[in-house]
Amino acid sequence: MYDPLHDNIPGINVSYPHSYWADISGDAPKNDGELRGLHEADVVIIGAGFTGLSCAYHLAKEHGIKALVLEANQTAWGCSGRNAGFVLKSSGRKSFTDMAKQWGEEVMRGIYDEMAAGVDTVNGLIAQGIDCDVQPAGYLKVAHKPKKLNDLIALADIQKQQFGYEVEVLSQEEVRSQYMDDKNAYGAIRYQDGFGLNPLKLAWGYQLLARKAGAKIYTGTPVTHWTQTENSQVIKTPSAQIMAKKVVLATNGYTPKGFHPWVNNRFLPVLSQIIVTEPLTDEQIQACNWQTNNVVMDTRALKYYYRKLPDNRILFGGRGAITGKGAEDPYYAKRLLNVLKESFPALHTINYQYAWSGWICMSLDDIPHIFHNNEQNIFYAMGYCGAGLSFSAQAGKRLAEKVAEKTMPDLPIFNRHLPKFPFAPLRRVGQWGYFQYGKMKDKYC
Ligand SMILES: Cc1cc2nc3c(=O)[nH]c(=O)nc-3n(C[C@H](O)[C@H](O)[C@H](O)COP(=O)(O)OP(=O)(O)OC[C@H]3O[C@@H](n4cnc5c(N)ncnc54)[C@H](O)[C@@H]3O)c2cc1C
Repeated sequence: MYDPLHDNIPGINVSYPHSYWADISGDAPKNDGELRGLHEADVVIIGAGFTGLSCAYHLAKEHGIKALVLEANQTAWGCSGRNAGFVLKSSGRKSFTDMAKQWGEEVMRGIYDEMAAGVDTVNGLIAQGIDCDVQPAGYLKVAHKPKKLNDLIALADIQKQQFGYEVEVLSQEEVRSQYMDDKNAYGAIRYQDGFGLNPLKLAWGYQLLARKAGAKIYTGTPVTHWTQTENSQVIKTPSAQIMAKKVVLATNGYTPKGFHPWVNNRFLPVLSQIIVTEPLTDEQIQACNWQTNNVVMDTRALKYYYRKLPDNRILFGGRGAITGKGAEDPYYAKRLLNVLKESFPALHTINYQYAWSGWICMSLDDIPHIFHNNEQNIFYAMGYCGAGLSFSAQAGKRLAEKVAEKTMPDLPIFNRHLPKFPFAPLRRVGQWGYFQYGKMKDKYC
């Protein structure tokens, strides 16, 4: 599998992975195919995931700028077409308490507002007619140990006080009797506004809107060289060369090795793995008391997440291999299946029918960065730390505003470069160390 720390391009026109989403979503809508020849452009966007597509749509719709989007493989071939489809008011991994300590309450609230706006932006785009199998709203954050419920209650209190956010606290008994009988759930907090959808159909919907507004989406068009002259950025692909005034980097965790000095050594791509089971029978649903389609995540340092899909299959996810080389090893999918069976013993005979993984993008400071440099006219949005479905829509919208030279709120997510990883060549060793620490913490703390 493509590994961003080892490979120089993510591929050329590579098909979608064999995922549940690719299997059930029907035919991909038309795009503009491969770009060929010599071109000039106001704006080139590299990467056709949620970020690139949202940026292209908002540039065209709100600022009258018709960008060229260049995608190495297929639309949403990266994270956007292979995620779990949880739409949540969050991004990054930094807690609101830590934000308040470091930057004060006003900044913390500003960042919260951006994350909340992400969900509004996604809902606004869906409302334009995107059919993406939206499920009934509700997001359960489940305590994986009895003492973790206290942490969740404290979090709910902060969110109620600071943001007026409606958060319900559920006891172990309430979770198991009203939602699902997860033997590893010791209570939960429940947000009313998270929900699950089909992310590939969502991305295809974004593409449709962006093209309708005037953007061009070229697939099978990897950027292989990127240099700069005095007046423009020179972008080369196998069959085209573009002189662009501005370039937006929307490659996130799929950014290839050594791609550009602006982002080299400033992110860590980490594999997240998903399995999707065969459909549950009525007896299995009853035995698990599985009444909900709410999306679920636990409190572990190395988190597990799951949801019941519209056809009664279970999507279950967690961490994957460390390198691209190990990504296809069935060990990781089987490990997820075993955890699912521990949580729901009535599913002891169930198997998975789909298993795939994707590269989420970690930043050193645990926050996303939507940044630009006026002198070089380069823009990027990266580092969502595995929580980017809704935030990418907002990041794309904000990127478009930056390109159109609008003023941004004065927040660290908008005015800071991604920090460099110290000892960057050893990032994977650090990740391995963190996984060992996380395992211990989840077992003993
Ligand atoms: C298994 C998994 C589950 C997840 N679940 C959730 C979830 O439930 N909720 C949530 O909020 N977030 C989730 N995420 C994270 C979320 O999917 C991402 O944050 C989001 O999709 C990032 O979108 P993006 O457009 O920025 O990047 P991507 O979708 O990764 O797009 C980057 C694109 O850039 C292209 N590219 C790279 N290099 C080049 C080049 N040189 N030339 C041209 N194109 C190039 C790639 O081919 C790729 O298509 C999950 C991620 C994974 C992997």
